Amino acid sequence: MAAQPFWKSKTLLEMSPDEWEALCDGCGKCCLAKLEYEDDDGQPTGIVEFTDIACKLLDGHSCQCKDYDNRFAEVPDCVKVSAKNIDDLYFMPPSCAYRLVSERQDLPWWHPLISGDPETVVTAGFSARGRVVSEEEVTDAEDWPSHIVDWPGRLVPG
Ligand code: SF4
Ligand code: SF4
Repeated sequence: MAAQPFWKSKTLLEMSPDEWEALCDGCGKCCLAKLEYEDDDGQPTGIVEFTDIACKLLDGHSCQCKDYDNRFAEVPDCVKVSAKNIDDLYFMPPSCAYRLVSERQDLPWWHPLISGDPETVVTAGFSARGRVVSEEEVTDAEDWPSHIVDWPGRLVPG
């Protein structure tokens, strides 16, 4: 019987740094602004909407961070995803590979580790490439609700 690939045979905590990095599909959707509903007391509900507004450091074509090494200095609310916190990051896209593996789900066919091609995340309709605006172009927070989109929250192409 063939050995299981690392994302099936290991937990997130057991993965090497290279395996951890390889698990990211490069979709860029975690770098989009989210809006979270509040309850009547003004407390966060955990119910979020994605927008097509990208962090100022996200390259809208490559979907890579333009200053990864210094990201926390430049964007203080950038969240470092780890094996220890992924289960608490309820605002991560449902197609995020870290979330899928944490939930013991299979990676989809278009994930680069399955397809062998980093472009399949784009062609399958799961990347933010080419469909975001930079937060630097949406300076009035009152405009953010008009940027709510459903595609980052889908598990089907779109
Ligand atoms: S959502 Fe997950 S898989 Fe996609 S870029 Fe972010 S960390 Fe990587
Ligand atoms: S700083 Fe970089 S990694 Fe963090 S949200 Fe912005 S683009 Fe994404």
